[in-house]
Amino acid sequence: MLELNKKVSYLRGLAEGMEINEDTKEGKIFINIIDLLEEMVLAISELETAQAEMEEYIDNLDEDLADIEHVVFENEKDEWDNEDTQYIEVECPKCKETVYFDEEIFEDDEEDLVCPNCNEVIYSEESYEISEDID
Ligand SMILES: [Zn+2]
Repeated sequence: MLELNKKVSYLRGLAEGMEINEDTKEGKIFINIIDLLEEMVLAISELETAQAEMEEYIDNLDEDLADIEHVVFENEKDEWDNEDTQYIEVECPKCKETVYFDEEIFEDDEEDLVCPNCNEVIYSEESYEISEDID
């Protein structure tokens, strides 16, 4: 960009040195072209700055996203890779969504099973039968 700037400045200096001015028809055209070139160089320079900022912003977003992906997928992997824990697939009688429960939760009589999707109690602590009145 500095190069383009120099070239336009050189042209302007050349025109002044040759005493080209707007007094003649040809001079008027030359001076106007040089003015236009200056404006274009400025416009391109602004675009370059804006694009550089955009690229930096996208790079930062990309890095942040990679961090989030790492955290999310690692957590998911840890959960499902844990061989000590078995997951039991249950279709919620209320919302019909297939949900998963840690099997340990079935061993604990004190705890109600609550659907993580609709928050309805699937199994109550009194009975591990599906309550008929839920559906
Ligand atoms: Zn549900």
